[in-house]
Amino acid sequence: MRVSKLFNKTLKEDPAEAEVVSHALLIRSGMIRKLSSGVFTYLPLGWRVLNKISNIIREEMNSSDCQELMMPIIQPKELWEQSGRWFVYGKELIRLKDRHDREYCLSPTHEEVITTVVKNEIRSYKDLPLNLYQIQNKYRDEVRPRFGLIRSREFLMKDGYSFNRDEESLSHTYQEMYEAYTKIFTRCGLNFRAVEADSGAIGGSSSHEFMVLADTGEAALTYCESCDYAANMEMAVHGKRNYENGNNGKLEEVHTPNKKSIDEVSEFLNIKPELMLKTLVYKAIFKDDEKLICVVVRGNREVNEIKLKNAVSAIDLNLADNEEVLKATNTPIGFLGPIGLIDVDIYVDEEVMEVKNGATGALKEDYHFIGVNPKRDFPKSSIVGDYHNVDEYDHCPKCDGKLSFKRGTEVGQVFKLGKKYSEKLDCKFLDDKGVEQHVTMGCYGIGVGRTMAASVEQNNDDRGIIWPIAIAPYHVIIIPVNMKNGDIVNIAEDLYKSFKEENIEVILDDTEERAGVKFANADLIGYPIKIVIGSKTLEDKTVDLKIRATGEELIVPLYEALGKIKEILL
Ligand code: ATP
Ligand code: MG
Repeated sequence: MRVSKLFNKTLKEDPAEAEVVSHALLIRSGMIRKLSSGVFTYLPLGWRVLNKISNIIREEMNSSDCQELMMPIIQPKELWEQSGRWFVYGKELIRLKDRHDREYCLSPTHEEVITTVVKNEIRSYKDLPLNLYQIQNKYRDEVRPRFGLIRSREFLMKDGYSFNRDEESLSHTYQEMYEAYTKIFTRCGLNFRAVEADSGAIGGSSSHEFMVLADTGEAALTYCESCDYAANMEMAVHGKRNYENGNNGKLEEVHTPNKKSIDEVSEFLNIKPELMLKTLVYKAIFKDDEKLICVVVRGNREVNEIKLKNAVSAIDLNLADNEEVLKATNTPIGFLGPIGLIDVDIYVDEEVMEVKNGATGALKEDYHFIGVNPKRDFPKSSIVGDYHNVDEYDHCPKCDGKLSFKRGTEVGQVFKLGKKYSEKLDCKFLDDKGVEQHVTMGCYGIGVGRTMAASVEQNNDDRGIIWPIAIAPYHVIIIPVNMKNGDIVNIAEDLYKSFKEENIEVILDDTEERAGVKFANADLIGYPIKIVIGSKTLEDKTVDLKIRATGEELIVPLYEALGKIKEILL
């Protein structure tokens, strides 16, 4: 390709709305252009990168016996009603009607369709296991589309689905996919971790997210510095923490005028925050109704709303406001506690149950209980579980090592779905005894555009993008510094021709721009190798070869340039 023919314009300024570096650089380098909020065009260079990632995915999927297919994006409402997700997906689902008023959605994911496709084709266990995937646009009306390709409303996703005869077979496929994903993200040159994750609205029993480490990441994660333990904060657990729990005390009501926060009460009563039993009230939203629930954690802990939401089996959880709390408990926020609380389900964090001499609100304005022993004093109907966040004072649950806390961007996820969709959509097979069984499913997604953006987040400098070779739009750019010098142009043209004959992905900057502009554009776009042809080439028949990633500069005899490039690209 010649830069003079390339459909590409670079920009000097960052777009005002770019909050992260990948968004700014992908726009400035002319890889993508915004059409409307969260909807982008991939221009030729960007599309090349996207296809390179797609092809790496294809190679790894195909070598794991997955088969590629292509399903419709427009999907009928009925299928989504059958799975129960027409309601659950809420406003994220883009819905539309045809001329006959029939309702459809634009697919955010394909479990419903693939399960229907497969159920009509398979008969017996001999047709299983089956692993199918596609690479296609998905549609999600995100509340806040942002960060360019990281959270958009139309985005390219590889989505795969496995169909197995039982859990054991699924575990095998899941492991294979986990390994394939590890290879894919390694080949894309990413620094990532596979973390244990919440399986969320999609349901299922087990899940890992592949997180690219980035300060701008939307998710918080923790991992052990000594072993392979890594988890999304939503799911993270820790080794047992040693607390002083106090000796058995007598339950007593004490006056705590105007002392509401944990710190205020703790100071006033001279009781450590970890012995203060913090009570919060949430409004839990279900499919057809909503109700208030309360949760109790130690005063030094934060509630983990995902763990709580899963325990409550709610679609959503929101902190209740003062008015709602007053109405339900007759007590203002600040003096809440579980002792004597009726008509509200009480979720008690497991760490709370060890306390012997703690304090909590007395369900009465300006009063707290001291001498609280939850095992003795809390309602017997309390639902005990892990509802708190791991923090920096905790240790690894596996090896007791030090935990690190980082942010990450999720680029892929693998789920064990079990029979959730096969039962709802009735996808069955005959087992080896001739008995009908529902298939056991898994699903496996990769955000292709998000992977591209995540790579830019990790590989850039003040001059622009630094593409890893595996996904660079072109590998080499040849820059003749002066187009008015016929000898320089001839050498550049000859080199370009010889590279093309050897199938090297090369681009020749044959524009009339100044050398400085050509260098700046090449660095902004992020080609891995730059070959400069200048007056030195005429003098001593050498070229200047620059490696974008390391800044290394080599003076190579002209006749050795091709060999050197091949060596670097190997
Ligand atoms: P998130 O939690 O970030 O909203 P998700 O868990 O809903 O993502 P999945 O349903 O697991 O996403 O989709 C598979 C992959 O698709 C994700 O790992 C991510 O890489 C990508 N993806 C999801 N939503 C978007 C989006 N709005 N824009 C770009 N890529 C996305
Ligand atoms: Mg996900």
